[in-house]
Parts: sequence; C-alpha cells; structure tokens
Amino acid sequence: MRSEDWITELLEKLASEGLERRLSVHPADGAVCDFTSNDYLGLSTHPDIVAAMQASNMVGAGASRLVSGTRDIHEFFEQRLAQYFEKPAALVFGAGYLANLGLLSAWLSRNDTVFADRLVHASLIDGIQLSGAKHQRFRHNEVAHLAELLAKASTARKPGERWLVAVESVYSMDGDVAPLAEISQLAREHDASLLVDEAHALGVFGPAGRGVAAELGIADQVALTTGTLSKAFGSYGGLFVGSTIVRQLLVNRARPFIYNTALPPAMLLAALESLRLVESQADLGQRLLDLAAHFRRALQQQGLQVGPSASQIVPVMVGENQLAVRLADELLTHDIVVKAIRPPTVPAGTARLRFSVTLAHNELLLSQTALAVGQAARSVGLLE
Ligand code: PMP
Repeated sequence: MRSEDWITELLEKLASEGLERRLSVHPADGAVCDFTSNDYLGLSTHPDIVAAMQASNMVGAGASRLVSGTRDIHEFFEQRLAQYFEKPAALVFGAGYLANLGLLSAWLSRNDTVFADRLVHASLIDGIQLSGAKHQRFRHNEVAHLAELLAKASTARKPGERWLVAVESVYSMDGDVAPLAEISQLAREHDASLLVDEAHALGVFGPAGRGVAAELGIADQVALTTGTLSKAFGSYGGLFVGSTIVRQLLVNRARPFIYNTALPPAMLLAALESLRLVESQADLGQRLLDLAAHFRRALQQQGLQVGPSASQIVPVMVGENQLAVRLADELLTHDIVVKAIRPPTVPAGTARLRFSVTLAHNELLLSQTALAVGQAARSVGLLE
C-alpha cells in the first residue's frame, strides 16, 4: 500500500456517504443572492468600518500579546468592550474558536466537570477535551435533562470540584435560543458557573446588541461570556468578557492566548467602529429579526420545515446528506447561494440548508427565495 492510500480511501468513504468537503471560491459577486454569511448586519463592507481599518498604521501586531504584541489599541479595545458589556474586564483572542479553546482549557482542570448542551460548537467541545475535565452532555435546550444530570452528579461531587454549565445563547445550526434564565437558575442552585457563547447573538439580540443574557436581564449571572468579532461585528477575532481575575487567569494559562500572535490592530480599529455603530443604531438587530421572521413564515407557507429557529439563522431541514447537497446545487442554478450542512457539524440524519438572513436582504427578496426553495424542494423530491 502506498503511503497515502489511506487518505484516498478515507476521502472515497466520505464521498460515498455524501460527506466529503471541498473548498470552492464563493460566487458572491452581486449577481447572486447569498445566504451563507454570518456578516449579519452587513458591517464587513460598511464604508465607516472599512475606513477605520484603513486608517490603521499597522496590519500585523508582530508578536504575541505577552511579548510585544499588546499595543494601545488592544488595551483600549478591551476596556471599551468591558464597558459595552457592563462587565469588569475583557480579553480578545485570535478568533472566537481560540477564545473558547483558551477559556475552557484554562478554567477547567481534569478534576472538574462540565455540563454542556449536546449541540454546543466544536470550539467548546475541543476546549473541554483539552482541559481533560469530565464532560456531561444534556439534550439540546432541555432544562429538565440538565437538572437530572446535575442532581445525579451531586452525590459524587468531590470537595473542591468545580462545575461549569456551558451553552450558546443562539445555536449556530438551528438558530434557536437557549432558555438562559432557567439554565442560569439551575447552575446557581448547584453551585456551578455559567459560560455562555454569544457568538451569533452579539449585535443582534439585547439592548445595543449585547446578547441574549443582557436581553433577559441576567448578564450579571453569567460568569464567563465568549463571542466573536467575526460575525455581526464584521471584523475578525474572538472575545472573553467577565471578571478581572479570570482575565488574569487567561493571560497566564490560556495557551491559545499566550502562544498566538496578537490580533491585528487594523481588525480592532474596525471592530471599534462596529461597536460604535451597533450602539448608535439601536434598531439594527430588531430589523434583522423581523426579516428572519418574515422568511420563516414564507418558507412554512411552502410546506418546508424550518426547525425551532427564533433568530436570523433559519435552517431548512432535509434529513439525508445527498438530498441536502442536491437541494443546495439546485438553488445555485437559480443564483441562490446556501450551504448544505451535514454531519459531523450536525447530528446524523439532520442534514439541512442553513440560511443566514442578513440586512443585505429585504422582504421581497426573502419571499422570492422561499418560493424558489419550495420549487427546488419539489424538483429534488423533498416535497411532494
Ligand atoms: N462559537 C460559535 C457558537 C460559533 O458558531 C463560532 C463560529 N462558527 C465560533 C464560536 C468561532 O468563532 P470564530 O469564527 O471567530 O473563530
């Protein structure tokens, strides 16, 4: 057997299951209707934000934060972020992925236990694995199942064993919103800290886009918040918001922070401008959520299943992998760009098209898209 035959075999197996991934250049050239972007508010191309980035006199930061990568803009941005979230401290990471990896691996030890929603993002799962902590998964958004796991584990809890409940506020592939108030209540009853990844909620939910916890008025109950500058804020980078002492823990112990080159100052200047915009135009998030609600209704009128979405992320449930790919291909012939999401990103048997509604869309276009999805679903045999 040649040395790379195993790779060929692996790729062939993936292809036969409809699971092979291929990179392709995104055809978003203005002629197509794009539903793949997490640039929810359209800020990545906003003239003020592009201008803020271009005003930077530095692109790369040149070194990691603990060497010489910490510039005025890093400190300034983190203070600004903490003030925005009304929390004592913030720390930026190279990406949202790295923020979750760093926070979980630094905060948890192998003697601790994390109770995570079954559908949390890969970055949270990888962080848990890196920490070596015990990992219990509760059924997606099922508070009763979390309560059961916490109660069961209580009898065997060792002195000093730290507990963490880890969830997202808006789930990236279902677009549904976590029952955060109930989850937080349970965590407090069991002396567990709460981590909420607000990656998809920031800029959209809550006052001035501060997220779901802020919307529910329970931000003070969330010990650890993570998120990204790369979605609604239209820039790049990850973030942690919480206490000063946890920030200091991360600076000392979070390997994805310590060993990664500091975020480019240009990205932070752009994100600073995004924050200003999101704070000054308070209706952006609600406008987006209204558009998404319109789109869900239009899809349902076509007989399509949109899952439990309550956000700008609207999945059209398909089930079978190859069928989802065929549906996406069919829509592409109508200049509608949407991706089939398959395992392992989502559980087996739940392949879907994930539509990201953004402020680049409008009601008319969303109605027309829903019609086209209905037609395509009939032509590939998903609907009668
Ligand atoms: N958390 C969640 C819930 C996400 O969906 C993502 C991005 N897919 C991340 C974290 C990672 O963020 P980033 O893209 O900035 O690495």
